[in-house]
Amino acid sequence: AEIVRHGDPLVADIIMAEEKRQQSNIELIASENFASRAVQLAQGSCLTNKYAEGYPGRRWYGGCEEVDKIEQLAIDRVCEIFGSKYANVQPHSGSQANAAVYFSVLKPGDKILTMNLAHGGHLTHGHSANFSGNFYEVTHYGVSEKDERIDYDALAEQAKQVMPKMITAGASAYPRIIDFARIAEIAKSVGAYLFVDMAHIAGLVAAGVHPSPIPHADFITSTTHKSLRGPRGGIILTNDEALSKKINAQVFPGVQGGPLMHVIAAKAVCFLEALQPGYKEYQQQIVKNSQALAAELSHLGYRIVSGGTDNHLMLVDLRPRGLNGKIASETLDHAGITVNKNGIPFDTEKITLGGGIRIGTPAVTTRGMKEDEMKQIAQFIHEALENREKPQVLEIIRQNVIALNERFPLP
Ligand code: PLP
Repeated sequence: AEIVRHGDPLVADIIMAEEKRQQSNIELIASENFASRAVQLAQGSCLTNKYAEGYPGRRWYGGCEEVDKIEQLAIDRVCEIFGSKYANVQPHSGSQANAAVYFSVLKPGDKILTMNLAHGGHLTHGHSANFSGNFYEVTHYGVSEKDERIDYDALAEQAKQVMPKMITAGASAYPRIIDFARIAEIAKSVGAYLFVDMAHIAGLVAAGVHPSPIPHADFITSTTHKSLRGPRGGIILTNDEALSKKINAQVFPGVQGGPLMHVIAAKAVCFLEALQPGYKEYQQQIVKNSQALAAELSHLGYRIVSGGTDNHLMLVDLRPRGLNGKIASETLDHAGITVNKNGIPFDTEKITLGGGIRIGTPAVTTRGMKEDEMKQIAQFIHEALENREKPQVLEIIRQNVIALNERFPLP
């Protein structure tokens, strides 16, 4: 920010203020994390100046000898992490990675069977407000009302009835292990492609803390900025050479122009970090923290969707306490705790309010927090929600939040 100040003091001030916000708030948005300084610096480097349409060794522009090395490093490292044969590291975002996958084998009007957004899926999994919902004939599967987990038998039945060309798995708000092997079996039985979007759990998969979709799926996409802890962006993996060619053609020139070489450099740095021994421990701690936080909230009387969590996030149903997600997230903002309102499977609350909140632990775990701090955070959340009408109590909690965060500085 000090260097930015020479060019634009106003932007520099805003960056400084955001850094302070990140330092002093407890970040519990499940899709956020704190990338390392090395990742941030690579992303802020001179590589932003370079056009490199095409792929390493096959570019439309001259002067690509250095960026070719960067992109190849990123590809080799991500293949090593996930044990996949082919990778495309150019997608600007998770949504663009997903678009390239759909476009590579589907035609408009083709049938896709995808997880319902209201049960934890993502907009790009066929929601009507997204291109994926407009271009394709979408049928959703979801969780069972009984245990709020994916009902694989019902999914198998649905697949037989729908006969989709592609089944999409992966979620933005599903707290349980996903059985990719089982979904692959279902996809195979109806001759459908299996596309796994592992954006949320990629870090857990990289560390072996969640079963990998790589041996089972035809296409695997991810964002790089969530549990994986890299820069904002996307990747696509596959083990099938013919599909890898289709994917490459759909990323560029299909849905994108020049790749963001500065972001690809930052992805390469993140992938090297993910290959270090401490990374597995970090990912294991994310899950331990998530389980500790869910257990304490449950102990304090909150209903945790599906009764707990196997991964980095949980959904807290606030309806039994006469609350909704909007009120809760706004209250927690006043106490310096950042979460997002979220729908609950079979929600009875308006979509704009949400029956609950989604809480995730990748960011607080990056700060070095462990189970004791999770207990403390659960207490803060409870006290804030109980005292939501009392600004002075919320201010005291905010001061306690700041004091806790001072013991765990940003990386
Ligand atoms: N896929 C899943 C499962 C996600 O949760 C998200 C983002 O929240 C995306 C894709 C989209 O990623 P992006 O915001 O980079 O487009």
